[in-house]
Amino acid sequence: MLGIDVGGSKTHAVLSDGATVHADILAGSANPASVGVEEASRQLGIVFAQLGDAPITAICAGVAGADSPGGEERFRALLTLRAPNAAIRVVHDSELLLAAAGRTTGIAVISGTGSAGWGRDAHGHTARSGGWGYLLGDEGSGYWVTRMAVRHALERVDLGEPADRLSQQLAADCGLQDPADILDHFYSHPERRYWAGRARVVFELAADREPVSAAIVAAAADALTHIATSVAYRLGMPGPVVLAGGQAVHQPLLQQAVRERLAVRGIHDLEILTAAPVSGAVRLAAELLTPSL
Ligand code: BGC
Repeated sequence: MLGIDVGGSKTHAVLSDGATVHADILAGSANPASVGVEEASRQLGIVFAQLGDAPITAICAGVAGADSPGGEERFRALLTLRAPNAAIRVVHDSELLLAAAGRTTGIAVISGTGSAGWGRDAHGHTARSGGWGYLLGDEGSGYWVTRMAVRHALERVDLGEPADRLSQQLAADCGLQDPADILDHFYSHPERRYWAGRARVVFELAADREPVSAAIVAAAADALTHIATSVAYRLGMPGPVVLAGGQAVHQPLLQQAVRERLAVRGIHDLEILTAAPVSGAVRLAAELLTPSL
C-alpha cells in the first residue's frame, strides 16, 4: 500500500504492507493547484523512481488543492499513469488527519502552508470548511501569518514610521537591510513555502510578547477556531478536534491559543496530531483492499 500526503510545501510518501514500512520518501510539492500539473507530475516521478518496481496494490493520496471532484480526477490520472494496476483513492489532504489520529469521527484542522478543516460524524456525514487557497483564504496558515507581518511592515513604511522589531526581523530573515525592500522581495519570491517558513519569526516575537506579532498569532487562532467551529456546527458535534500541519504542530503558542478559544465554545477535546498525516493515507489505502476495516 502506498500512502501519499501532498501538501503545499512537500510530498511525503510511505510504502507499507501494513506491518513494515518499505519506503519513506520526501519530494517537493506535487500539488497541481500550486505548482502546476507538469511539476506535480515531475515530483510524482521522483517518488515513483525511488519506489523502483516494488509491487503496489493500493494507493491513497491526500492532496492539498484537490478541492473539487475535477481536481481529484486530475490527480488520479497522474497516479494511474505511474501505477496502472493499483486501486487508487484520492482525497483532500484534511481527510488524512482523522485517519492518522486513528479516529473515524471528529474534526480535523490543518494549519500548514495553507489551512482547512474537515470532519466526519458517526453517521458518515462529512463537512469541509475553509481550504480556499491563498488567494481567497488560508487564514491562520503559515503563509497567512507571514503575509500579515509583511503587510504590517509595509504599512509602517507608508506611514513613514521607523521599522519596529517585527519589520526589522522579518526583513533580516529575508536577507534584507531595509523593510521597504520587502515589497519587491515578496513579488519576486512567489513560492508560498518560502513565506510560510518565515511565520517562525512572528511566533518567536509573539512568545517574547512583541504586541503586533502577538496580535497576528491571536488572529490566526481565531481563524482556525472558526474553521473548527464551522465544521462542528455543520455536523452538530462538539469535537474532538485534531489540529495538524507544520504551524499547528511546531508552535505551542498557537496550540494554546486555539485550545483556549475552543474551550470558550464548549469544545474541550483537542488533540495535536503527532503522527505523520501520511500514516492516515496508508490506513485509507488499506481500506481499499479490505473495505470493511
Ligand atoms: C488548499 C487546501 C488545503 C489547505 C491545507 C490550502 O491552501 O487550498 O486544499 O487543504 O491549504 O493544506
